[in-house]
Order: sequence, then structure tokens, then C-alpha cells
Amino acid sequence: MSRNMEADVVIVGAGLSGMIAARTVLAAGLTPLVLEADTRVGGRILTEEVAPGLPVEIGAQWIGDTHERMFALAAELDVETFPQYEEGETSYELVGSGVLRENDFHTRYADELASLERVFRELDQLAAEVPVDAPWLAPRADAWDAITAGAWYDAQGLSVVARTLLEICTVGILAVPTVEVSFLHLLFTIQTCGVTSELFAESEGGAQTTRFVGGTSEIPRRLAALITDHIVLEAPVQLIEHSADSVTVHCRGGITARGRRVIVAVSPTLAGRIMYDPPLSGVRDQLTQRMPNGSSMKAFFVYDEPFWRADGLNGQLISDIGPARMSNDTCIPGDDHGVLLLFLEGQQARTFGRMPTGERRSALTAELVRHYGDKAAHPEFYVDGEWSDRQWTRGCYNANLGPLVWTTYGAALSAPIGAIHWASTDTATYWSAYMEGAVEAGERAARAVIAELTR
Ligand SMILES: Cc1cc2nc3c(=O)[nH]c(=O)nc-3n(C[C@H](O)[C@H](O)[C@H](O)COP(=O)(O)OP(=O)(O)OC[C@H]3O[C@@H](n4cnc5c(N)ncnc54)[C@H](O)[C@@H]3O)c2cc1C
Repeated sequence: MSRNMEADVVIVGAGLSGMIAARTVLAAGLTPLVLEADTRVGGRILTEEVAPGLPVEIGAQWIGDTHERMFALAAELDVETFPQYEEGETSYELVGSGVLRENDFHTRYADELASLERVFRELDQLAAEVPVDAPWLAPRADAWDAITAGAWYDAQGLSVVARTLLEICTVGILAVPTVEVSFLHLLFTIQTCGVTSELFAESEGGAQTTRFVGGTSEIPRRLAALITDHIVLEAPVQLIEHSADSVTVHCRGGITARGRRVIVAVSPTLAGRIMYDPPLSGVRDQLTQRMPNGSSMKAFFVYDEPFWRADGLNGQLISDIGPARMSNDTCIPGDDHGVLLLFLEGQQARTFGRMPTGERRSALTAELVRHYGDKAAHPEFYVDGEWSDRQWTRGCYNANLGPLVWTTYGAALSAPIGAIHWASTDTATYWSAYMEGAVEAGERAARAVIAELTR
């Protein structure tokens, strides 16, 4: 059934970025209208109950100490937080080491770990030269964008153990192998987050210190409640007609929304699948053809208790055998269950994501048994979540840029085109790829639109 709607600012996508943009527009006295393709808000944030009262995060889970906007948003929405469980040792198995506890691993590989520290410091120094709002202007941008992160890593003279650990840490952030990513993009990613110690999962603290009571989806759910009259679900945007001062946005199913500006708050890959009339420049389209989303899936094993804690383990593992390269203890305070989260990222997600669930679960169970013993073989519940099959996400955690993309096309990433503005975490300059970045990008796009419309 056709339906014509009007607003000052039409927003594509009710993820965090789109809804923050809508709220900011509304607060400025303008009318937003958010068109969301899916049956729910939240996008890459998705909490599911694995058992009654036991939420697990299929999507985003943590915030870190420097995620100021997310802490402020949680406080405003009255969503309480709790700290990530960190007590005990990490369990390692790398390059034929067998399963080793953290202290033993650190003793045996002290030299390798020291060399890795030196690489992290070098990365921090190089990243500090990258302007986050224009990485292509870094003094050595051309050279850094001409090689992959993997090639730079290979040239550091690291031992096999150190190089393997570095790969695992980096794939844990980018969700693609380092041979697929420009070195400039890696430095940009580090710089948007501060320093490597904030970013890499091996470090304490950083991006994974804090979780949300009731699940991360409480954030988009409560945010949506504040702007509920301005959100339409099941409205996939297919075509944006635009001029310098107006837009008409057409959705599958017959909704047409007219506005003075549009903010497209979806990942660049999905933004590139919308039709634009008149068509966008070749530069913009070539960019969105070159910003693929990563590959990651999360698998949760739920036990009657967190038995690994009694053994002095923190629930984290690091393995190059896998299938999962990393894990976390994701128990809920006040609930007796033990919950382990295993990450399949990059090639692991691509390979194991295609398997029948039973086979994937068996392979992951065998890994858990190696690290945590036979008790790990008998979970009460198992659930996993894949993202590339989801039509309105098509991979995660975010978009990564391969060699030569930043320096050739990067300027087109967030530059408005007439009445069209761009948001989503993939356009952020602070904690890009994270929820914090989604908020920053939504605010930035909304502020730009407000400035134009209230001039
Ligand atoms: C498995 C996983 C784990 C993660 N872990 C963390 C974490 O621990 N901490 C952290 O900070 N971040 C994490 N992230 C990243 C975080 O989820 C994202 O940075 C953030 O949610 C992105 O928000 P967004 O609004 O920019 O994009 P999205 O959430 O992708 O929102 C885009 C919205 O647009 C909709 N849409 C798409 N196409 C159309 C269309 N044509 N028409 C209308 N609507 C459309 C989508 O349905 C979606 O709702 C994780 C993500 C995943 C998937």
C-alpha cells in the first residue's frame, strides 16, 4: 500500500547512528523520519535470550573506558553497566606450544612478547601521524596505503609465535586477515581509538571493560522509545531522488518520504546498493565498491556454572588451532550459569560459518575441552550468530579498506553530496567500527544538516 510521508530530515537506518542522528535533529526543533528496513531497531546490536532471563550478545557487547558518548547515553537512558570479569589466567595454544596457562606462556615466550611490545609502540608512533578526518593526508600516506598491514607485520622480523599472536589480535579487531587491509587503514583504526593498548584484546581494559545490564539492546530499545513516532520499520530504502535542497526517498512496499535532507546511516556497502537519482559520482561509487564488511560470528556455550573460574582461569583463550582464536567469560552477575563466548573471525568465520551448526558446535566443543577440560563438553545451551547472511548488515564488525582505497577514494567517505549526508560507525573519526563511533557519526551528520537547515 502506498503511503506518502514528510519530514525535514529523512534518515536511512535505525541503528545507533541513525537513531542518534534523529534524536539530535529532533532536539534542534526539526522533524526527523527514520526508515528502517528490518523488523527491529538496533542493527549490529542484537541481544537474544538463550534461556529465560539469560541474555547473550549476538552483536555488540562491550564499551571501554574512553567511550564517553556511550557511557553518557547509557546513563541518560538509565541502562546500568557492569564490569567485564577479568580474574584469572588466559589459556594459550600457539604454534605447537600445547595448551599453556598465561604465566607459563609469558615465561616461555618472554622475548617474543617483548618484541611484540616494541611493534605496538612503533604502531602507536606511526598512527599518531594519521589525521583521522583525512588519513590520505598523512605524511607517508601513499607508502602506507600501498602495502597491506600483513606485509608490514611480516617485515618486522618477529618470531613465528609473536607474528601469530599479532595476527590473532588484529583479526580480532578487523575481522579480516591482515593481508586484506591497507597498512594506512590499520593505522587509521588505531588512531581513531587512541593507542594500541586501548584496542588490542590482549591488553587489559581497552575496548572491552564494561557491559550493559539487561543486554546491549536495551540502548537502542530505549532510544527508539524516545523517538518512536519518527521511526518506520520494514521500510527498506531502494531509491533516493535528490536535488541541492530536497530529497524523495522511496522504500520497497510503497512508502515515499519527502524531506529537505537525507542522512544515510548504513554501512558503505549497503549505501552503495541504494539507487540514487541523479546517480552519484564515480568516485563515490568506486569507494563503496571497495569497502567490504568483515566476517565474524559469535558462539555461546552456557553451562550450569562457570567451572573455569574455580580453576583460576578467566575464560579467555588465544589459539592458532581454533576454530575460535579467542574467547571470553560472558557470565551475567547474579545468574549462576557459566557462559563462554567464542569468536570466529576472518577466515575462521568464513570457513566455519558455512558448516552445519552441529559440525561447527562439535569443533568448538573440542577446542573448549582442550582448554577447560571435560566439563566443557556438556553445555546446557548453545547458540551462535552469523552476520553476512543478514540482508541488512552483510558482515561485520565494520567496513575495512584495502590497499590504495584511502588515498584514491577516501575523501568521498563522509563528504555530503548536495542534500545527502552520510553516517554509520564506518564514517566515524573516533572509535570507528564501535558503538561509540556510531554515536559520533550520527551526531556529526545531524549537526551538519541542522547547520544547513537553520542557517
Ligand atoms: C558481532 C558483533 C560484535 C560487535 N561487538 C562490539 C562491541 O563489543 N563493542 C562495540 O562498541 N561495537 C561492537 N560491534 C560494532 C557495533 O555493533 C557497531 O559499530 C554499531 O552498532 C554500528 O551502528 P550503525 O548505526 O553505524 O550501523 P548498523 O547497526 O549497521 O545500523 C544500520 C541500520 O540500517 C538498516 N538498513 C540497512 N540497509 C537499509 C536500507 N536500504 N533501508 C533502510 N534501512 C537499512 C539496518 O537494518 C540497520 O538497522 C559489534 C558488531 C557485531 C556485528
